[in-house]
Amino acid sequence: MPFPIKTCVICHEEFELRPDKPGFANRCPSCSEPEQAAEPEPRRSTDYAERRAEFEVNAARRRAMRDLLYRKDS
Ligand SMILES: [Zn+2]
Repeated sequence: MPFPIKTCVICHEEFELRPDKPGFANRCPSCSEPEQAAEPEPRRSTDYAERRAEFEVNAARRRAMRDLLYRKDS
């Protein structure tokens, strides 16, 4: 007996809905696999470095502002 043919809701490919198919019934086997990390590791560390650099620039800017304010007060 053939398995029912379903259309994957992710990639719109038709696939056989086997009873032992893991994952969602409306997703093909390849789309049922756990998603790969959306961001590869090197890119994430680049983003992290960029965020970190931005944070340090902002912190330096805040320090400079605070110094200006203190100088104004005294
Ligand atoms: Zn799919």
